[in-house]
Amino acid sequence: MSQETILNLHNHTTYSDGHGTYTDIAQAAAIANIDVVIVTDHNIRPRGLEKYYCIEDKNILILTGEEIHDRTHSPQKNHLLVFGVEEELAHLGGKTQWLIDRIRQINGFAFLAHPNEDALSFFKEPNISWVDWDITGFHGLEIWNGMSEFKTVCKDSMLTALFYAFFPHLLAQGANKLTMQKWDELLRKGLHVYAVGGTDSHATPYRKGPFKRIIYPYQFHFSTVNNHILTEQKLSGNFQVDRQVIFNAIRHGHYFVGYDLPHPTKGFRFTGKGQFGEYQMGDTALEEKNITLQIRLPYPAICNLIHNGKTIQTWNQQEICTHQAVEPGYYRIECYISFMGKKRGWIYSNPIFLGKGA
Ligand SMILES: [Zn+2]
Ligand SMILES: [Zn+2]
Repeated sequence: MSQETILNLHNHTTYSDGHGTYTDIAQAAAIANIDVVIVTDHNIRPRGLEKYYCIEDKNILILTGEEIHDRTHSPQKNHLLVFGVEEELAHLGGKTQWLIDRIRQINGFAFLAHPNEDALSFFKEPNISWVDWDITGFHGLEIWNGMSEFKTVCKDSMLTALFYAFFPHLLAQGANKLTMQKWDELLRKGLHVYAVGGTDSHATPYRKGPFKRIIYPYQFHFSTVNNHILTEQKLSGNFQVDRQVIFNAIRHGHYFVGYDLPHPTKGFRFTGKGQFGEYQMGDTALEEKNITLQIRLPYPAICNLIHNGKTIQTWNQQEICTHQAVEPGYYRIECYISFMGKKRGWIYSNPIFLGKGA
């Protein structure tokens, strides 16, 4: 799979509590140089806005998803990102399992949004973590959420929040540790669940005394945590065809989460080669006894290979890494990079599954 498309998939507009329009988002995406954006407004799926937006010489694909939650629950919990459906399902917000079952029935898929986060009480932002862990049938987890990370890093101090309002590029540190543990727990149970990264952009203007900032502009968010989709063919420019291509790639886990600010993550690859073929992230090498894993980094960094939840090999500052995988189970990659004096999460791959037991 040689074609790579950069996708930002968790964003809000004026249709819910965001502060920009679809056109504002397309313009920001063009400046940040990303290809596709999915808008996920709260409990509303506006019609007729999904299309290619032509911004100067760039074509930006904007798709509509939805973030559905139970509006009667206080504080609001269980935010679910819904993709690949055309039906309005917000009325099922209070019945999470029914909602997920209906999404599957109509061939869509759902990710648990910001499963672990903290309250930011001085901005009156409550903790809206996922609480309903008995549910089944979801497609994956949002392992990194830009706004949740802001809440977690700033939760104890208004001064810290002010600092990161003015220096947003110093904020991001990596995927949420509790969510990563949960992801490994689910994968170890044999569930094929995938990770996505979201920025949760709202472009909200905040004012505190003399200070006035937008936390954070769409353009900034689009230069941070993205999903890099791998496909056989380039996007065609046809809206209906490309919408299907993007959703199919997410459905099959053919992508990785990349924090593009320290250094672009474009060009990262994680593949497995066996007797019967080559495998991509998200694939299962069902009949293979062993496969050769190959990792290619776009820049030398720290690269960890994780097998069934445990780091089994670390490469330092190497751009090509290989490993002979013989044990059944799942293999995934985490990369870390030094940026602004700190080691930060950089790339999180989806897993490759080996063997019948996987
Ligand atoms: Zn949410
Ligand atoms: Zn959101």
